[in-house]
Amino acid sequence: MRHHQKGAEPQVLTENKNEWQAAYLADKGNATARYRYRHPEIKNSLLTETGHKCIYCESKIGHNTPGDVEHKAPSSLYEYLHFDWTNLTIACTECNRRKGAYDTVSDPFLDPYLPDIEARIAHHGPVVVSAAGDVGAEIGVRRLELDRGRNDLMERKVEKIVEINHLKNRIIQCGNPILRELLEADLNRRCQIDQEFSGMVRSLI
Ligand SMILES: [Zn+2]
Repeated sequence: MRHHQKGAEPQVLTENKNEWQAAYLADKGNATARYRYRHPEIKNSLLTETGHKCIYCESKIGHNTPGDVEHKAPSSLYEYLHFDWTNLTIACTECNRRKGAYDTVSDPFLDPYLPDIEARIAHHGPVVVSAAGDVGAEIGVRRLELDRGRNDLMERKVEKIVEINHLKNRIIQCGNPILRELLEADLNRRCQIDQEFSGMVRSLI
């Protein structure tokens, strides 16, 4: 989990959110009115903001890991936040399902848009652990099951660890300074926020 900065609200949302909200509240059974937050301009802005990753587990959103626009505070409980830009982000299907309608407004959780997020968790191999005594972080980790189960996620994280360890060994053993510099640049790139599991990768080096 990394600390993400909120980007600028997309124009299509600024221009239409009041109308969309009114239409949604007038007919909540209408799928077109309900899912207007999935507009490509909104989704693309969110994907750019999150590095095309789930904000919770850092999986890249794509073919193997589908994801969608996520309401940080569940809009089933907070209807007025249904089209609220600061409440919208991206999560993978697996994290989204585990989070469910958990009330992140009244109860403690993890919010990757808050600056202290990276100090509240640590990485033990593929397993995420919460900082001692941090109830909100522990609830977040346990609810999202970032600490156990989730075999597919754990397997992909272990593959990443093997890949990073291989790269680290190549750097140590590399006798050519030019190649070594290129390998080090590769390793640094994998720690950048838009890279899959970058929080865990940073903990490995
Ligand atoms: Zn996820």
